[in-house]
Amino acid sequence: MQKGEKILKPKKKIKGGARLPHLKHTAEMESVYLENIDQVIIPMQQHIGAPCNPLVKKGDKVFVGTLIGDCDAKVSAPIHSSVSGEVSQVKTITLSNGNECQAVIINSDGQMTPDPELSAMEVTNAEDLRKAARNCGLVGLGGAGFPTHVKLTLSDDKPIDTLIINGAECEPYITADYRECIESFEDILEGVYLIKNALNVENVIIGVEDNKPKAIKLLYDIASHKNDTENHVRLMKLPSSYPQGAEKVLIYSATGRKLPAGKLPADVGCIVMNITSVAVLKRYIKTGMPLVNKRLTVDGNAVEKPGNYIVPVGTPINKVLEAAGAEDFEKIILGGPMMGQAIYNTEAPITKQNNAILAFKGIKALTKPTTDCIRCGRCMKACPIRLSPRKVETALEFGAGAEELSILNTMHCIECGSCSFSCPAGRQLTASMRLAKNVIRKAGAK
Ligand code: SF4
Ligand code: SF4
Repeated sequence: MQKGEKILKPKKKIKGGARLPHLKHTAEMESVYLENIDQVIIPMQQHIGAPCNPLVKKGDKVFVGTLIGDCDAKVSAPIHSSVSGEVSQVKTITLSNGNECQAVIINSDGQMTPDPELSAMEVTNAEDLRKAARNCGLVGLGGAGFPTHVKLTLSDDKPIDTLIINGAECEPYITADYRECIESFEDILEGVYLIKNALNVENVIIGVEDNKPKAIKLLYDIASHKNDTENHVRLMKLPSSYPQGAEKVLIYSATGRKLPAGKLPADVGCIVMNITSVAVLKRYIKTGMPLVNKRLTVDGNAVEKPGNYIVPVGTPINKVLEAAGAEDFEKIILGGPMMGQAIYNTEAPITKQNNAILAFKGIKALTKPTTDCIRCGRCMKACPIRLSPRKVETALEFGAGAEELSILNTMHCIECGSCSFSCPAGRQLTASMRLAKNVIRKAGAK
């Protein structure tokens, strides 16, 4: 096998998208563990799907990794304690997105004692892997939090031939996956082969943007490892253009297949896993410790000590900001500047799917003023899905209903933010797309 044969070029390149400044200031900074968190607030809704029911009550003793919430619904993911200590309350809280849900509040005893019941598990087939992902409480770690075990539920009528490992991390600032790759390389290496063998897939494609030479070198070692006796694992260098890491875009680049709106990757023969998910799942299988910590990139011009912080799930956002020396901030974004969400409630807790906190000051100077549309068409050119966001915005302004909005293919929008970024008139096109999608969802249309 020649070196070149292990590195693939994208099958298809996306049109549109945005050339963004990378701003990966924290890429070469080793992650810092945030210790001495005296209380965690663990929401029972940290995933797409049904919320969990609390399984503990005030006064119960818990360990790190103790199951504290679960639910029988197919689309849901169990929730575990991220500290050892005592449950002080179970109550309704407001999440960073404004939604309310039940949460288990735990006072830490400072010992971080792992649950003695945790144990390694053996995974030899796809069903074992699905169970492991569920027991681990694993969900999509950088996005909406779709439960991983649902993605890994195979069915005969939807054969899977390609596992895509997503190492693109295309949003500015965020380096959490990159640090996972550098700091937990062995877990990723072992995880890739474990998942590949359990799923028995023909092709494994590890996608990484070409602006990460260190990660490329490491991931090349996975693709060329002696474990790959049948030459199934390959590295794909992707152009560093935004939104290369979006699931739809990645599947298209890696396989040339188009994922229809409302469909799962399995509908086009693929499973996509984030690179950190691979490492988390491997660690769970090896140790029995479920998903209880999150690595977050903390950055922005109001942050004195930017870096990647590893924190117990349920840590209040303000504790992380405090540790990173964020002061006088006017805007907080949970996630990246393109797909993240501006938040106001910094007492809300970190959840499993959070991967960054950005804190900014002087935002007036950073924000484009909004003016009338000048019909330049840049928003359409920037859209990787080839939509017309201005048309959707105009339709909303004229009070269009679900049916009219659906005709504009609104539900295909991946909310990547490229249209808003490209608009010289500073129009909030992505917000309009989200609004239009909500109108359609509420009406039950497609
Ligand atoms: S319309 Fe949606 S998919 Fe297209 S650029 Fe805007 S946010 Fe991205
Ligand atoms: S990019 Fe902005 S100004 Fe240009 S057509 Fe789209 S909405 Fe109008």
